[in-house]
Amino acid sequence: MIRNVAIIGLGLLGGSIGLALRERAPGIATTGFDANPNVRDVAGERGLVGTVCDTPADAVREADLVILCVPVGAMGEAAAAIAEALPEGAIVSDVGSSKQSVSEMLAEALPGRAIIPAHPVAGTEQSGPEAGFASLFTNRWCILTPPKDADQDAIEAVSGFWAALGARVEIMDAEHHDLVLAVTSHIPHLIAYTIVGTASDLEDVTRSEVIKYSAGGFRDFTRIAASDPVMWRDVFLNNKSAVLEMLGRFTEDLTALQRAIRSGDGDTLHDLFTRTRAIRRQVIEEGQDDERPDFGRDH
Ligand code: NAP
Repeated sequence: MIRNVAIIGLGLLGGSIGLALRERAPGIATTGFDANPNVRDVAGERGLVGTVCDTPADAVREADLVILCVPVGAMGEAAAAIAEALPEGAIVSDVGSSKQSVSEMLAEALPGRAIIPAHPVAGTEQSGPEAGFASLFTNRWCILTPPKDADQDAIEAVSGFWAALGARVEIMDAEHHDLVLAVTSHIPHLIAYTIVGTASDLEDVTRSEVIKYSAGGFRDFTRIAASDPVMWRDVFLNNKSAVLEMLGRFTEDLTALQRAIRSGDGDTLHDLFTRTRAIRRQVIEEGQDDERPDFGRDH
């Protein structure tokens, strides 16, 4: 039974958890801490948690569930900062976008503690304490990656917690999570960062032309490429092998398309584009995106 939740890191994810709890589970008391005093001020003004604390220790002292919502590269440090004050029996979880390295960091900083790593597959390109909103997790998946010897009650408590926030819960091992998310999230971000970077470096097409005619497809990549630089730097550094593995496959497929274009092989292009169109339909049928044309933008 979870009654007191402590949220460490009060940006997009931490703030959204606090707001979702306030709306969906008002009986749960929330405390929070962020290393940045300006973030703590905004968190207090927006009521992201019931009590904003000045130290991580104060935030977790009464908690039965602590959720670390800091960039992946800061997880070890954030976990070490709560170790002394963490009550006996409290569960520690996180929302980090990569799971193998985070699980290792948490296990090292908090030996013998109940650790249930998690990744809500939900977010936006915005970050910071102004960015959070209560419905972020509604109908989105949250993947838990408990270690093999994890306590079943702790797994159920964290599953129930995410279900209460409106999420659908799946359990996976951390290695598989990192491979799946490399394909569905990390490589798409890398591609967006590359395309937007390449376009801004072109010499024979001006930057103002790229921006002016962006509705041709470029615009949709700019949304992803506007994502938080610290968060994404840490994701690539911490999910290195899965990203490199998937990037190798992607490069091979891109080379095959290059060959098809060069040799005028229209069948190959048509077959691929037909398959990808069907995948878009499946994403919509799964309730993971808006079915209106152009994401429902007002034209
Ligand atoms: P965010 O909006 O930048 O919030 C992170 C907050 O943590 C910032 O206020 C940051 O302060 C603070 N922080 C950094 N180190 C800290 C520490 N040691 N102790 C306490 N606070 C600390 O980032 P976010 O988008 O919420 O991402 C948080 C986590 O969620 C990341 O691990 C990310 O991989 C994961 N995630 C993100 C998304 C997404 O779409 N954004 C989706 C799923 C999961 P400063 O800014 O001053 O450093």
